[in-house]
Amino acid sequence: MAHSNSTKNISYRRFDTLIIGAGGGGLRAALQLSEADASVAVVSKVFPTRSHTVAAQGGVNAALANVSEDNWHWHMFDTVKGSDYLGDQDAIEYMCRAASKVVYELEHFGVPFSRLDNGSIYQRPFGGQSKNFGGSQATRTCAAADRTGHAILHSLYQQNIRAKTHFFDEYFAVDLIKDDEGNIQGALVFDIKTGDIVVIEAKTTLLATGGAGQLYRTTTNALINTGDGMAMSLRAGVPLQDMEFFQFHPTGIAGRGMLITEGARGEGGYLVNGLGERFMERYAPNAKDLASRDVVSRAIATEIREGRGCGKDKGHVLLKLDHLEESVIQKRLPGIRQTCKTFLGLDPVESEIPVYPTAHYTMGGIPTNRDGQVVTPVKDTPEEPVQGLYSAGECACVSVHGANRLGGNSLLDILVFGRSAANHIITQLQENRFHRRLHQPSVDQALERLFRWNKKGDGESVEELRTDLKKVMDENCGVFRTQEVLDEGIEKVSALAERLKDAVIDDHSDVFNTARVEALELENIMDVALATVYSAAARTESRGAHSRIDYPQRDDIHWMKHTLYFSENRSIDFKPVRTKPLSVDSFPPKPRVY
Ligand SMILES: Cc1cc2nc3c(=O)[nH]c(=O)nc-3n(C[C@H](O)[C@H](O)[C@H](O)COP(=O)(O)OP(=O)(O)OC[C@H]3O[C@@H](n4cnc5c(N)ncnc54)[C@H](O)[C@@H]3O)c2cc1C
Repeated sequence: MAHSNSTKNISYRRFDTLIIGAGGGGLRAALQLSEADASVAVVSKVFPTRSHTVAAQGGVNAALANVSEDNWHWHMFDTVKGSDYLGDQDAIEYMCRAASKVVYELEHFGVPFSRLDNGSIYQRPFGGQSKNFGGSQATRTCAAADRTGHAILHSLYQQNIRAKTHFFDEYFAVDLIKDDEGNIQGALVFDIKTGDIVVIEAKTTLLATGGAGQLYRTTTNALINTGDGMAMSLRAGVPLQDMEFFQFHPTGIAGRGMLITEGARGEGGYLVNGLGERFMERYAPNAKDLASRDVVSRAIATEIREGRGCGKDKGHVLLKLDHLEESVIQKRLPGIRQTCKTFLGLDPVESEIPVYPTAHYTMGGIPTNRDGQVVTPVKDTPEEPVQGLYSAGECACVSVHGANRLGGNSLLDILVFGRSAANHIITQLQENRFHRRLHQPSVDQALERLFRWNKKGDGESVEELRTDLKKVMDENCGVFRTQEVLDEGIEKVSALAERLKDAVIDDHSDVFNTARVEALELENIMDVALATVYSAAARTESRGAHSRIDYPQRDDIHWMKHTLYFSENRSIDFKPVRTKPLSVDSFPPKPRVY
């Protein structure tokens, strides 16, 4: 029976590695492992090719120099500057150096990149890209029209099928489970269709569950991006890092949130306000519309706040593409054109697009090292790997994006670190040939989490609380922040978390598994929301996407450090930024102008 209420059959399965998440990060790792003959299970709550990676439009950064001169060192500088100097420079060097390799690998996996006339991979300019350490605009983003994520995800999925990766499609991971010594030993998952429960025992587990864009009401993210892996990791005692840094993308369709890729500005589009001014010239005289995302989002919000918005309520600005050739739009931005026709009834070849900043990307996440190992402070040591646990992709924080991610760097991040995590797992598996003994109480705890949502009867509904949470996050933890507003945010989210304890699904005689999933997701996103507001209230400076009206300056003396939020006692700690790269000189903090 579809979506039944039967969560009774429990089976046990064993694999070398469990990967939770079938987006680009999870699938890149799975492929590396399957090709090394490890037995790999990939669990995904949606069919793999519906993961959010499929929605990525603009492209992936690599200094291939196909269009203009470029090298990884310039890419590294741009990424460090883009991160507002909070990114770890060793990890950034590692990622930028690996970029060309992972993109060529994709080409060989069959990703149908757009082509230049000479047959090489097409690249477009994107925000925050420069030549020669802050000079003129670079052209670094490799693209398959405006459907790059779609091309990548489908190719990776097909390669995994060929490599015989084992998929658990439409299974929901409830919680991590442990062995007798407290190491991570897989997860408890359930089949959303039948309700059947599977305890997947694995020598190593990789969390690749993506971002938490569902924290906000207006978001480019899919409904499934509820931060599940981040919450699972919190429950396993691992802190979350840098959660105050949440990226608002400058060009979401006003009022709806669907993304208009930065590639639209890369192809020559620009923003205008209600007076018809090209206002980005005032905020970023050199880079203009291709300044970093945090800069452009703040500029739009400021124009609107100061009364220079467009439309009846002056609540948005306009993105102009109508000066571009129809053939450019059709060839390079066909998906955008379609989105505008479908959701706005307008054709960007003829009309401007109403846009407003929208929630987009989670810079913070599960702290990892360059090998994808999850790391956490232990007693007097700054950090130690958590045995058996790995993380890669948007849910992880390695940290290459620091306080602000550059467009095109996330697809790169998930490929580079999905791959490096898999390589480390392969060495781990050689040393750990046997499964350890399962700690039954950790299984029982996960079961309790699941069965808690069998509860019916009177009480507040999950849906109501979810709506309230998004409203609070919009109002109390948005583009601009103050202590007062953030402290109120802490109070309000804490109160919602309290109310969630007594919430119920509905009072129907049968509880559908999809409703159960939504409830578990709300518990997860609530924990991520707490991490976000607590971290934001703690950081009394403005850096990257964290913009404090009461502390407008970046403060390098006190704040060159990462935030760590622990769910136990809801406490905050810090760890230093790693400013020393692997082989080149550090980029010291400088004023960040574009
Ligand atoms: C609209 C949009 C456009 C973007 N465009 C670009 C771009 O052009 N360039 C760029 O670099 N970046 C872009 N990004 C960002 C980038 O696409 C993402 O950061 C990246 O794809 C995330 O990949 P991932 O593998 O970490 O996670 P995802 O692709 O989000 O996959 C997460 C996976 O985890 C699974 N999962 C989650 N929770 C559970 C659970 N409890 N149980 C079982 N499975 C679970 C899901 O089913 C899914 O398979 C864009 C993002 C959006 C939203």
